[in-house]
Amino acid sequence: MIGLDPSDQRPLLARYDLAAAAKTLTRDSMAARRSGGLWRWRELLPVRSDTFITSLGEGDTPLQPVRWPGLSRVLVKRESLNPTGSFKARGMAVAVSRAVELGARHFVAPSAGNAGGALAAYASAAGVPATVIMPADAPAINQVEVVATGARMILLDGLISDCGRLAALIRDELGAFDLSTLKEPYRIEGKKTMGFELAEQLDWRLPDAVVYPTGGGTGLVGMWKAFDELETMGLIGAERPRMYSVQADGCAPIVRAFETGERFARPWDGAHTAAAGLRVPSAVGDFLIIDALRKSGGSAIAVPENEILEWRPRLASLGFGYAGLETAAAVAGLDALREAGAIGADETVVLFDTGAGFKSEPPAFESPRPVPNDPGFWREKVIPGLA
Ligand SMILES: *Cc1c(COP(=O)(O)O)cnc(C)c1O
Repeated sequence: MIGLDPSDQRPLLARYDLAAAAKTLTRDSMAARRSGGLWRWRELLPVRSDTFITSLGEGDTPLQPVRWPGLSRVLVKRESLNPTGSFKARGMAVAVSRAVELGARHFVAPSAGNAGGALAAYASAAGVPATVIMPADAPAINQVEVVATGARMILLDGLISDCGRLAALIRDELGAFDLSTLKEPYRIEGKKTMGFELAEQLDWRLPDAVVYPTGGGTGLVGMWKAFDELETMGLIGAERPRMYSVQADGCAPIVRAFETGERFARPWDGAHTAAAGLRVPSAVGDFLIIDALRKSGGSAIAVPENEILEWRPRLASLGFGYAGLETAAAVAGLDALREAGAIGADETVVLFDTGAGFKSEPPAFESPRPVPNDPGFWREKVIPGLA
């Protein structure tokens, strides 16, 4: 069983023979690898044999410019275009593939949002049963996806941390592979590919700043690891983007720890935010997130819940399409950072659009009354009403 480091109960991270990898993974060879999504980075992923890869087409998401008042270059990493509608697909693709290679016969994971659906989809495709444990108040849309995609779902009358404890019990009793965030080393390997893609898409020069809506922080920690791997291989230099974590003010343990100068984040009591991906009161990798933020010269910022809800319907006109609440939080965070002068007008900023609008709780919505199916009525009432 692969879990936390038995000596200190902290996350284990994968290491590679980077000198060997650098022989075949070069700027030129990457330019020639046109398909395969995140699996184009084979040498830097933990799956040994291609026969164990379960892919639904994850990775290689666009890095798209959007209009932004007061900033000249904001690029959005469109992670919402991944299979299952969020970047959880990256982590689960790699973790499920590697676990199957190691002989996993059953998966288990707690989830309060998108991780459950991603696990269900990849486990089904791999032909391995999965059990997802969700708090009973997890968004219905996420619950439906888990079941519709073929996993067994247990709804627990408790918090995500309670779900994690039940997952550990199931792991021990059934010998299941526990895919809880950072309690195994492979989901982060999938998510780190976002960092590889940033470097490649920006012609091997990292942006000035990265704005990332942070829950468990695997994406942020993964990208930080990816940058180190690329530097060791000589693919980028020593410069790093300033990394900014955005959390909701109803659940901001990383922001609190960052501001008080602590290295570990105390669990957040009474965590609440409609942005389910950010509702993580206690992150196993808290110190990894906080270390990366500090080393990068970035920071952590909490945005008010009402701002998240207010930004969401405005995102389409900025070029985001129907964006999820976590993306809206990141946008609110970037706006606050710009206003505070933390980000300069001419800097290159990458903002993470982590999940599709369809994956978040929908905004309040009332259908308009249907109009009669009558051309006369349309001409008299409908068209003039629109003019
Ligand atoms: C899980 C999730 C997050 C938080 O990601 P971490 O890497 O765990 O911090 C943000 N947005 C969405 C849509 C998510 O599903």
